[in-house]
Amino acid sequence: MDARETGSAPRITVDRDRCIGAGQCVLAAPEVFTQDDDGLVDLLPGHEDAAGDAHVRDVPMACPVQAVTISDG
Ligand code: SF4
Repeated sequence: MDARETGSAPRITVDRDRCIGAGQCVLAAPEVFTQDDDGLVDLLPGHEDAAGDAHVRDVPMACPVQAVTISDG
């Protein structure tokens, strides 16, 4: 089944309460993730649905505190 057809495309979510500012997400996918002035993760606008990107798929494993999750719909 194609997720796009069901309207349940994977989504990236970030938990800023967990984030410790390690920066692994930004290193892995700088086109999707950024860090604010406090070093906490933020998604760049319009990239919440970039979960299919191979670099983004690596981020949940790379983050040391599991602050980034990809939901499969
Ligand atoms: S890798 Fe995890 S802890 Fe580090 S900045 Fe990204 S979300 Fe935060």
